[in-house]
Amino acid sequence: MQPRDLSAHVAYQAGRGIEEVARDLGVDPATLTKLASNENPHGPSPAAIEAIQETAPGISSYPKAAHADLTAAIADRWDCDPAQVWLANGGDGALDYLARATLEPGDTVLVPDPGFAYYGMSARFHHGDVSTYGLSRPEFRLDAETVLADYDGERVVYLTSPHNPTGGTFSLGSIETIAAETDEETLVVVDEAYGEYAETESARSLLDERDDVAILRTFSKAYGLAGVRLGYALVPEEWSDAYARVNTPFAASELACRAGLAALEDDEHVETSVETARWAREYMRDELDAPVWESEGNFVLVDVSEARGPESGASVADESQRAGVIVRDCTSFGLPGCVRVTCGTEAETREAVEVLNEVLAR
Ligand SMILES: *Cc1c(COP(=O)(O)O)cnc(C)c1O
Repeated sequence: MQPRDLSAHVAYQAGRGIEEVARDLGVDPATLTKLASNENPHGPSPAAIEAIQETAPGISSYPKAAHADLTAAIADRWDCDPAQVWLANGGDGALDYLARATLEPGDTVLVPDPGFAYYGMSARFHHGDVSTYGLSRPEFRLDAETVLADYDGERVVYLTSPHNPTGGTFSLGSIETIAAETDEETLVVVDEAYGEYAETESARSLLDERDDVAILRTFSKAYGLAGVRLGYALVPEEWSDAYARVNTPFAASELACRAGLAALEDDEHVETSVETARWAREYMRDELDAPVWESEGNFVLVDVSEARGPESGASVADESQRAGVIVRDCTSFGLPGCVRVTCGTEAETREAVEVLNEVLAR
């Protein structure tokens, strides 16, 4: 027998890992700098490492208290009801919960192009169909007109702010307009995976005013916990009962919840992470010998097409990797002339600029 028809499904293409690249190139992983997956170059908070070590002997038990404690701490931070916090296995897990809570088979969702691949993947897993709104070059402007021009009554509309891979943001006003102009039964998901790095305001305030907006957050980026898989959605007050019906039991693990609790307390780690990213994105915009979009995230999108040709993203990424710096070819985002570079530490960022400028000059 075969699985169901998966021809419309596409495999997620993650940024390449250090071990994987080192093996391919036959070099020591320690000589490589990975700036391909928007991970935190400062690593996790030391408090989170300690919490995981302390938790390790107890992992034969299912996570219950830790889940409740973290939910309460997040609710406190956002000043909302704990029932509005839907903890999940990464932000991706929270996207799945939102799809489970909204989609009937055949419902359609509206996703950005270029954009984050998992929105469409998650919708398809939940028997939904996918339409796109196109961000137009060269600015990739994120505004209400762009989204509403392609809106046709979809059940869910995804907004990414800051946007991956462009780094742009939606203003709070434009999100409010989109929520107001779309149908009552359309949920607007504001993905703030990079929210900590942004200067633009969070859409949190809309949760008090509307029942059709949800916000996505993750511990994978500014909190440096990508490896434990922890994220959450903040949902409308009216949705409190739905979580117990859609969540995968214990998907947010004991280790993840304990690490998350510790990381949440470590403001200094987040501040350092955000400061470094803000410096690095400006530095790359100033110093790279190619057009770089303005970014409010911990990465920049670089147009390498003028220097190396319209579909040179793959070769630039490949050559840069050979020179020791792994960046993300954006072909899978539909941008074959671009690479995305994560903000590293100061030293890593300077190295990335040096290597990329050398590659761009070839
Ligand atoms: C990284 C990211 C997420 C969430 O990633 P998780 O590791 O699953 O938490 C969500 N949306 C966007 C746009 C991202 O870049």
